[in-house]
Amino acid sequence: MAYGYAGRILHANLTDGTLEIETPPESFYRKYLGGSVMGMHYILPGVQPGVDPLGPDNVLTLMLGVSTGAPISGQSRMCANALSPLTDGIGDSQCGGFFPAEMKFAGFDGIVVTGRAAEPVYLWLHDGRAELRPAAHLWGKTTAEVDDLIRAELGDNKIEIAQCGPAGEKLVRLAAIINMANRANGRTGMGAVMGAKNLKAVAVRGKSKRLPLANPQRVKELARLGVDRVTEVPDMDGLRLHGTDGVLGFQNATGTLPTFNFSAGQFEFFEEIMGETMTDTILKERDTCYACAVHCKRVVETEWNGHAVLPRYGGPEYETCATLGSYCGIRDLAAIAYGNQLCNAYGLDTIGTGATIAWAMECFENGVLSAREIGFPAPFGDAEVMVRLVEMIAHREGFGDLLANGSRRAADLLGKGHQFLITCKGNEAPAHMPQAKRSLGLIYAVNAFGADHQSSEHDPMVEDGAAELYMGRLQQLGFDHTLPPCSLGPDKVRFALKTQQFYSFLDSAALCQFVWAPAWCVYSPQETVDLIQAVTGWGDFSLDELLAVGERRINMMRVFNARLGLDRKADQLPPKFFKPLIGTGPTAGVALSSEEIEAAKDEYYRLAGWDVATGNPTAETLARLAIG
Ligand code: SF4
Repeated sequence: MAYGYAGRILHANLTDGTLEIETPPESFYRKYLGGSVMGMHYILPGVQPGVDPLGPDNVLTLMLGVSTGAPISGQSRMCANALSPLTDGIGDSQCGGFFPAEMKFAGFDGIVVTGRAAEPVYLWLHDGRAELRPAAHLWGKTTAEVDDLIRAELGDNKIEIAQCGPAGEKLVRLAAIINMANRANGRTGMGAVMGAKNLKAVAVRGKSKRLPLANPQRVKELARLGVDRVTEVPDMDGLRLHGTDGVLGFQNATGTLPTFNFSAGQFEFFEEIMGETMTDTILKERDTCYACAVHCKRVVETEWNGHAVLPRYGGPEYETCATLGSYCGIRDLAAIAYGNQLCNAYGLDTIGTGATIAWAMECFENGVLSAREIGFPAPFGDAEVMVRLVEMIAHREGFGDLLANGSRRAADLLGKGHQFLITCKGNEAPAHMPQAKRSLGLIYAVNAFGADHQSSEHDPMVEDGAAELYMGRLQQLGFDHTLPPCSLGPDKVRFALKTQQFYSFLDSAALCQFVWAPAWCVYSPQETVDLIQAVTGWGDFSLDELLAVGERRINMMRVFNARLGLDRKADQLPPKFFKPLIGTGPTAGVALSSEEIEAAKDEYYRLAGWDVATGNPTAETLARLAIG
């Protein structure tokens, strides 16, 4: 068995209740490493065109990486993949927390879930063994309630649990898989796939915490280096001090804080919802994932409108403060924290949920949706409306039943409101604006699962004024000079593709991007290679092989989509991104140009080894990456 791995992949067929354990050879692990590329190995042949994403024939994979559970920062990640009920293409989402490491200690590298159980069940994985248990008594319960019930039932308080939540049970297409009641595989509706399979939860526990490592001394050295860098690198210290929401002030200053459903890049009341304010007001403690020195997670405690906001549900990330906040024109941090709590309790993606509510608000403001259709007036800035709509989406109540489909489907079903969508392939845009970050716009368009902010390095890392530390790291990927701001020429396209391949490797090795990204993070690309070598003992593992793993994932997802008819024509940005931004700040009046995006797509497809006309990988590219 390869170092770093548990050596077991569980195949759970919920239709007939069979549980089989596969023990792949080392060559399998070296080709795929883990995460979503390993999931694609099962999904690509397992899900045929015409399959209902919410039917029994969808395949859901939950995969760890080679170093998951190692004593070093940024390794406890789990990737969820399946045909997405939100995008109708490949779905992809990552989570952190303690669940991933505990699943490795329980003796498994991944789970492949097929079929659908006749009655609700949960999986119980411990010490290399797996069993299915009834879950009817857990159905309808919130995430924290389920955590308590399973731990009490199995008599172990240290069990970690990933679950679909009531929203997943109700097949809300924005449903997440939640662990610890505050960490999410948020994007692309993976919680709905889990709920559709009648799989309420996966519970894991391993007695031994020792991962077999080829070179434990080198892993220890790298871990120590990381601990020092967390306080030495200002951006990392900021992440620890104020969480991801510590970037909200910077985003606002640069005109890239999406406001009023991406109509403007600055929010007048940004100071009331930024990370520093959270630190000074409602922050109770700083949390972390297994063995991570960064401590970027927030735990808040407050009260909103008579509702307690409990530490148990963590605290809002930057994305959540933007989507439930500035997207909706809401300046009330306590309301945002309560909305975040509801999303975590019911199992909702805060990005998709907040963006869908912002879309409804913009429709209301412009007379496209009436108070009668929604059930009440829904203007921007109304925190009570935001909270009410989160509840209604989670329970599919009233107008929430429509919004539970995500904004693109809601617009399609209504036959109106398309001009206000901010979706790519049906996936609502996260809180980073392609109007200023042009290469991110390209990635939003070409990415197999739509708009995603964690699929490539962001433009400022390589633009004039970029930090020397980050440019030094990017040199290892072949970038030796900065590029003009707001540009999207051939060099920027190459930057987008190369860093996309690196990020794609991270989602294959299941490594956290705040720690292992190529520029903005703790370690350099070469140190990431060092980690893989030290964990596995593969002394000839190189930066080229690392990038090839990432490229393999991107291409397998692209092939999966192509088979479903999603090709270049699906690589579209919403019309809203081509309209000048309103309001104040450096991006006021700025818009994307379709000529620029189309030219960048041509260049991207060429560099990726894809057919420029269709945007599909060529036979030569698939052969080079050993994709059958
Ligand atoms: S940087 Fe943050 S999200 Fe990433 S592993 Fe560490 S604590 Fe978790």
